Amino acid sequence: MAVPKKRTSRSRKGMRRSHDHVAVPNVVYCECGEPTLPHRACSVCGNYKGRQVVSGDNA
Ligand SMILES: [Zn+2]
Repeated sequence: MAVPKKRTSRSRKGMRRSHDHVAVPNVVYCECGEPTLPHRACSVCGNYKGRQVVSGDNA
């Protein structure tokens, strides 16, 4: 098994880990005012692109 010749410095480790984070989901607001994910039908009213695509139970 390959073994690293040199210990990774704190700086190098930090540079590598600068991308290690959970991406924050983007938020768009539906016509009904609820925050939803982009390119998804609204979970509250079932609307997508200005028309109903899922039957809204509580709309
Ligand atoms: Zn909605």
